[in-house]
Amino acid sequence: LGNSPFRKYILGLETKVPLANGQQTNYINFDNAATTPPLYSVIKTLNDFAPWYSSIHRGQGYKSLLSSEFYEDSRKIVLNFVKGNPVSHTVVYGKNTTEAINKLSYRLSNSEGKNVILTTEMEHHSNDLPWRNRFTVDYIKSTDDGSISLADLESKLIKYNDRVRLITLTGASNVTGYKNPIYKAAGLAHHYHTKILIDAAQLIPHSPIDMKHANESEKIDFLVFSAHKMYAPFGTGVLIAPKETFLNGSPEYSGGGTVKVVTQDNVYWDLPPHKEEAGTPNIMGIIALMEAINSLTKFGLDKISNYEEKLCNYTAKQLQNIPDLKIYNTKKIPKVAIIPFNIKGIRHDILARCLSHEAGIAVRNGCFCAQPYIQKILKISPGEIKRHINNTELHPGLVRISFGMYNTYEEINKLIEILNDISKDKNKYLRKYS
Ligand code: PMP
Repeated sequence: LGNSPFRKYILGLETKVPLANGQQTNYINFDNAATTPPLYSVIKTLNDFAPWYSSIHRGQGYKSLLSSEFYEDSRKIVLNFVKGNPVSHTVVYGKNTTEAINKLSYRLSNSEGKNVILTTEMEHHSNDLPWRNRFTVDYIKSTDDGSISLADLESKLIKYNDRVRLITLTGASNVTGYKNPIYKAAGLAHHYHTKILIDAAQLIPHSPIDMKHANESEKIDFLVFSAHKMYAPFGTGVLIAPKETFLNGSPEYSGGGTVKVVTQDNVYWDLPPHKEEAGTPNIMGIIALMEAINSLTKFGLDKISNYEEKLCNYTAKQLQNIPDLKIYNTKKIPKVAIIPFNIKGIRHDILARCLSHEAGIAVRNGCFCAQPYIQKILKISPGEIKRHINNTELHPGLVRISFGMYNTYEEINKLIEILNDISKDKNKYLRKYS
């Protein structure tokens, strides 16, 4: 079965964590959809750059000029990574995907007439809630197995006619891993005279993205993603958008760095992206992102996704032999390396606790900030949701394994072993962890 060819590049995999029995074990991280551990090269680059960093756009000192140059050049590197258009696109930095989507929602809400956002039932809350209070939001239906239908998207585009401001959908679900047909959806968007945003938070560490696409009518207009899901630390989010999005009007946040001239009576905004980046920029976050892009490009995202797909298929096959275990993404469509599951008779939080305390295995449990999608997949009744709102019952949910390029078959075998044990001797674990 072999080891991961990418394992040697990841920092912190030799760390030991305590178990319930007082012993220690290697930490096994199957929660990569939440955050990936950093690459060695990213941390080394940060260390190397630390003596050199200084304030961006705010000084003529050598270090300040150097930092500013790296910062501005990085936008070209980001665009090159996702094949954005260096002439028509601008790259706006913020702290994460959530902030990027909020920022875009704020800016798009100023246009008159087009007040409908079409999104899907499978979105992360970050690509749902920021639209709700500024637009009429309608949801492209997901089928019972959790995938979305382009036919439903088209019928909604026809229904709302010219009122659709934007279609926004995730590149891949953080619950089922299902990849959406983003280029086909982009084709529909343009055919019906609107634009498309792809939430690439889950897609970016697993799959090459081509905003310009071979077929011009299927190009991606807007893209967002976070560095902390692609082997760099926290604090950096990317919003790629057509420049004209930000030309008129005022930014959501204003302050230092956003203006050309300020008088007592007037403000003359700078051009985008500066207009949209209030305050001193996070140069260390950008340096980390640049090294992550450099490394992922060197490794090859195709090679990474091939390896992860094999891990995922192997795991799914093993899980199928575990009594009472149900997997929730069995549809044969392209997906990123995620497996959501449950074991009958054990609540998701208890199961996740068992894995951590008995085997040092990190997974995520619950609704993964995608409650409407989970409610649909698990067919949760309004009564159950109400009991959760009233704090009398835990919201039903799932356990999620999400792979990174460094996970190994050996780690998977450990997971399968403990899951088998839990499933066969539920009472023992329920007594211990309920
Ligand atoms: N969209 C998707 C699909 C995600 O998985 C996540 C993170 N779980 C986000 C958006 C939000 O990302 P962040 O927390 O970095 O803002």
